[in-house]
Amino acid sequence: MRSSLRSAGLAAFLAALLAAVPAGPAGAQAPSAAAPAAQAQERKVVLVTFDGVRWQDVFRGPDPKVVGDRQFVNPDIKDDVIVPAYMQGADPGGALMPFLHGVVGREGVLLGNRDAGECAEVANDMWFSYPGYNEILTGKPDPGILQNDKIWNPNVSFLEYLQKRPGFRGRVAMVGTWTLFPYIVNTRRSAVPVNEGFGGSYPTDVKTAREGLRLLHRHDQRVVYIAFGDTDEFAHAGDYAYYLTALERGDDFLREVWELIQADPFYRGQTTLIVSTDHGRGDTPLSAWQDHASKRYFQLNPDEQPQYNETGVTGSGNVWIAAIGAAVDRPRAGDYRGGACAQSRQIAASILTALGEDWRDFRADAGAPLAFIKAPDR
Ligand SMILES: [Zn+2]
Repeated sequence: MRSSLRSAGLAAFLAALLAAVPAGPAGAQAPSAAAPAAQAQERKVVLVTFDGVRWQDVFRGPDPKVVGDRQFVNPDIKDDVIVPAYMQGADPGGALMPFLHGVVGREGVLLGNRDAGECAEVANDMWFSYPGYNEILTGKPDPGILQNDKIWNPNVSFLEYLQKRPGFRGRVAMVGTWTLFPYIVNTRRSAVPVNEGFGGSYPTDVKTAREGLRLLHRHDQRVVYIAFGDTDEFAHAGDYAYYLTALERGDDFLREVWELIQADPFYRGQTTLIVSTDHGRGDTPLSAWQDHASKRYFQLNPDEQPQYNETGVTGSGNVWIAAIGAAVDRPRAGDYRGGACAQSRQIAASILTALGEDWRDFRADAGAPLAFIKAPDR
């Protein structure tokens, strides 16, 4: 079915081969192995998001109070799965997400642990998905986005910008679990494929992961965005055990992607993996772990969850950001400790910078790149 699988790579190889042939007498020199090496500095980015994942769960691991409440975790699942799998050691966060805390913690940046004085947040004042993804992808909050509605996004994402740039055309793709993604990246206008061939609709993270890996194995994309959604779905449903297992699966997916990046010469040494979430969730009262959205949102929608009308879901605008790979300047993560706050609106410019593009050409009023993202050497 995918007979075109290798065609783009072959075309690029032939073009490089032709460029490597000297203009002198034909056949004077055999093409050297320099052609594939010339490809070795082609920057690439893999962006992964997990919908509505709290920094508390990422860094502290499972919340003992939520785990202990039979309304949120079946007591048998608690005793047989959650406690033994994640909560008996000294590092429950590391037990839940071993790749983020292990490899990324050592070699990259894992940012947003408020217990350690770090700060990461959204810049939009809504704290739910469409405003969050719009901010991540376009570099600027849009105060006109007030609902998760199927509205074609008027704002241009960095995906759309790249899709129209030389060197990126046809080499930008997205796969997402949520049916609103085609609207958010405006597939009508942007020419960014979202879940191509599946009508833009995907029911579970398992299928999203499979499609994401298929995109990476195509070896013709420079920007792949993979957006998971199970965490938010199961949090709203009050199923904390499933929320946790979705996180553990997500972490293992990141490990698989990173190992692919390390093993594959198409990606190795030239690829940056960036991971984040579109919003956080609450933690007070206890049941607020299920919920998110700002005071402003509830003022606009006072009948939805009236218990939040006065305060919003406190803290649900807090996020976390992870990055590892070619563009990551690890010591600069300290810029967001005890001082400035990293914001989701900086992710678009960070990705463009990691790719060697000038983010101001995309959007001069976008959030500036994160301090720990550096442009490639020229
Ligand atoms: Zn949600």
